Amino acid sequence: MSFIVAIDGPAGSGKGTITKLAGKKLNLVNIDTGAMYRCASLYMIRNNIKLDETEKIAEMLKNIKIKQNKIDDIDRFFLNGEDVSSLIREKEVNEIVSQVSHIVIVRERMVELQREMGKKSNIIMEGRDIGTNVFPNADVKIYLDATAEERANRRMKQNEEKGIKMSYEEILENIKFRDNNDKTSPVAPLKQADDAIYVDSTNMTIEEVVDKIVEIVKSKGKGE
Ligand code: C5P
Repeated sequence: MSFIVAIDGPAGSGKGTITKLAGKKLNLVNIDTGAMYRCASLYMIRNNIKLDETEKIAEMLKNIKIKQNKIDDIDRFFLNGEDVSSLIREKEVNEIVSQVSHIVIVRERMVELQREMGKKSNIIMEGRDIGTNVFPNADVKIYLDATAEERANRRMKQNEEKGIKMSYEEILENIKFRDNNDKTSPVAPLKQADDAIYVDSTNMTIEEVVDKIVEIVKSKGKGE
């Protein structure tokens, strides 16, 4: 039996960074499930498949191969063998990924793939529905949160580093919009699992959050 750590939380809560760092410390394979929905979205854009074209989407799900591999210690994402790590973060994908993730057959296939990954290795998997839906029996479940204002501050800093110009108000509005979308989604809405540990990272540094998660996981029986 593999050891499974599920990390869920809203956009901008730091799940990605924290999952990578904690995974390394705990010797767990880290998996970014948002990137999987992003790969499916990119495939649909490239092949001009519309959100309501169910048959084409079903065909796509038979044909696409999505892989996450570490190269020089950096996570890279492959769609049918092509490295699409940068492309899946672009605006066109951002615009449709949430809707793509609400398509029932897409979600079913991605969840199936995620469960297969959990059979092969000890993992730390981040997303929106990992503790509630993908692995309801996960060994450890964390719900990582921060206030919308703090998440907007963090995004603002990231944008500045990347040279992206967006006002704080615009970012905050976008975060609130995504929160509402994720929490009211008709399919696998974002919510804390009953048995998840709530971690509020608003006033914590990245290192403090990672240490806290490592401590929680170790207390549940997974050493280094
Ligand atoms: O985490 P990230 O922002 O890359 O995820 C992209 C989108 O995929 C999110 O907007 C979210 O709605 C969706 N998603 C999901 N279930 C997951 C992971 C992501 O619905 N497990």
